[in-house]
Amino acid sequence: MRLRNKPWATEYIEAHPDVIIPNPEDYKGKWHEVFGNPNPVHIEVGTGKGQFVLGMAKQNPDINYIGIELFDSVIVSALERVVEAEKPANLRLLKVNGAKLQEYFTKNDVSRVYLNFSDPWPKKRHAKRRLTHEGFLKLYESILIDKGEIHFKTDNRGLFEYSLVSMNHYGMRLNYVSLDLHAEMPEDNIMTEYEEKFSAKGQPIYRLECQFTA
Ligand code: SAM
Repeated sequence: MRLRNKPWATEYIEAHPDVIIPNPEDYKGKWHEVFGNPNPVHIEVGTGKGQFVLGMAKQNPDINYIGIELFDSVIVSALERVVEAEKPANLRLLKVNGAKLQEYFTKNDVSRVYLNFSDPWPKKRHAKRRLTHEGFLKLYESILIDKGEIHFKTDNRGLFEYSLVSMNHYGMRLNYVSLDLHAEMPEDNIMTEYEEKFSAKGQPIYRLECQFTA
């Protein structure tokens, strides 16, 4: 993701605390208070400019969505989209580090984690930074419901192969694997920005759905 300096981003973010929650640690264990209903919460880690999480929120009004993104200059584009879409009631954004999810969520807060086109960190010495590394799987398990799910899409074959092995070693159950999602193109597939970019170049999109066994 190319980062552009946007000096107005912080002010714009602060002006929309109803979308980008400024104090997410206060809602640990009580996200239903934010949404005003007990519906399941699905999070996307590394939400980028928000096309996927906004599309999902519009498609599934009975699910609550939280898009998590590290950078002001990126999440502000997601925020602009959400404002333009008149702030769906079942969608919030968090400008936090996905490596610190335990500060904001506790066991059973989340029913599903989405990872879309996560940074591949191809060097072996950076493996721990991959969002499907064992350390991250442990983190997701600690905030998910029992048998909670991870849904993962990528164009990066190396990261996909690594993730399959990582999830298998962790003892997760694979429910779905596609080596060419767009050949099947499920009707309900919401494309991310990266997915549009890579599929336009003719690259296959890999996808998996997996589940913790406890
Ligand atoms: N998911 C989007 C898509 O498919 O179009 C964006 C993909 S982009 C390659 C990866 C995004 O993940 C970037 O916006 C990056 O800032 C974000 N990211 C990477 N590590 C993160 C972390 N630890 N916590 C939150 N966001 C992270």
